[in-house]
Amino acid sequence: MTSRTCIFHIDECDFEKSINEAAKMIKDGKTVAFPTETVYGLGADALNPAAVKTIFEAKGRPADNPLIVHVASKEQCEELARNIPEKAYTLMDRFWQGPLTLILKRKEIVPDITTGGLDTVALRMPDNEIAIELIRASGKAIAAPSANLSGKPSPTTANHVIDDLFGRIDAVIDGGAVRVGVESTVIDMSSEVPAILRPGMISQDEIEKEIGDIIIGYEDKVHQDIEKVRSPGMKYTHYSPDATVILVEGENETVIVKIREMLDDFKSQGAKVGLLLTDENNETIVGNEQFLLGRKDRPRELACNLFAGLRYLDEKNVDVILTDGSFSHSGVGTAVVNRLRKAAEMIIKI
Ligand code: AMP
Ligand code: MG
Repeated sequence: MTSRTCIFHIDECDFEKSINEAAKMIKDGKTVAFPTETVYGLGADALNPAAVKTIFEAKGRPADNPLIVHVASKEQCEELARNIPEKAYTLMDRFWQGPLTLILKRKEIVPDITTGGLDTVALRMPDNEIAIELIRASGKAIAAPSANLSGKPSPTTANHVIDDLFGRIDAVIDGGAVRVGVESTVIDMSSEVPAILRPGMISQDEIEKEIGDIIIGYEDKVHQDIEKVRSPGMKYTHYSPDATVILVEGENETVIVKIREMLDDFKSQGAKVGLLLTDENNETIVGNEQFLLGRKDRPRELACNLFAGLRYLDEKNVDVILTDGSFSHSGVGTAVVNRLRKAAEMIIKI
C-alpha cells in the first residue's frame, strides 16, 4: 500500500502537465483517482491485473464485485468487447459521452480480476474532460470504481476521496465538484432482453425511446435475495455513513409529521439527530444538524447533493440521520431513492 498520495490541482495553466504526469502513473500500473461527471473514480490500467488488484485493496472492495472500464472511443470499446449488439451501438451514439454503462460480452484480453470472473465487461465513456484526456494520454482503458472506501458514500469532491483514501492510493486529480452526483445507469446488453441493473441519471424512459422495451433487473430493497441478484455489486451494503440512516417516504405532510415524531423520540433518548431534508421542508423541522438536498422540483439537484449530505452529517457525528423521501421517485428521482434505500437501515413508507 502507498504511503504518500500525490494531489494534482487542475487549472488552466498546468492541465496538460498534470494530465501527462497522472497518465504516466496509470501506464506504470499505479492508482489515480479522477473526476468523472457522475462521481470520482479510482482508476488503474484495466488490462494490468496487478494494477487492478491495488484498486480492490485500496477500497477494501470484495473481489467478486466487478469494475466499470472507462474508454475514450467506440474503437477502444470494440477492443474489449465482442458480439456488440446493434442496440448497444444505438445507446453509445445517443448517450456517450455520458452516465450510461453498458454490460457487453468481454474479449479474452480483459483479465478476470477486472470483471470479477464474469464473461462480460462493463464499459462507459465519461463526459468529463479530465477523465477523457487521462484515458487518451495514458493510451489505456481505465478500470475505475467509485473512489471511496467500500460501503461508504461515493465521493463527489476530491476532498471526499482524500478523506477515504489518502495514503492508500498513488494520486488524486482535483477537478472540483462533479456535475451529476450519482453513479451511472448500468444496462445489461449481453442478454436477450436488455435490463437496467442500476438506475442513474439516464432513465428507463430515455433508454426505451431509443431501443424499445427493457426490463428492470434490480430490486430496490435493503435486504435482497442474493441468489436472484444479476449484478454482483447489488448485493453489498452501500453508501452507508456511520450513523443509522432512516428514510421516510410518502406525501410531504405525512413525512414531516413522522420525522418530527421520530426526532422528538430520539432526542428524548439523548441521541444526536441529523436531518437530510429537501429545501421545501427547511425550518419546518429542526434537528441537531441539518443538510439541505435541494428543491424537490429539481431532482438533479437532489442527486448532486445526496452523497455530500450523507458525508456532511457523518462528520458531525450524529447518531441518526432522518431522511426526507417525499420527492418524486421518477426520472433521476429513481436513482436518488435507490441510493437512499441502500444507505438506510430502516425504510418507513407512510
Ligand atoms: P462502481 O464502480 O462502484 O460504480 O460499481 C460498478 C457497478 O457495476 C457494480 O454494481 C458492479 O456490480 C456493476 N458491474 C460491473 N461489471 C459488471 C458486469 N460485468 N456485470 C454486471 N454488473 C457489473
Ligand atoms: Mg461504488
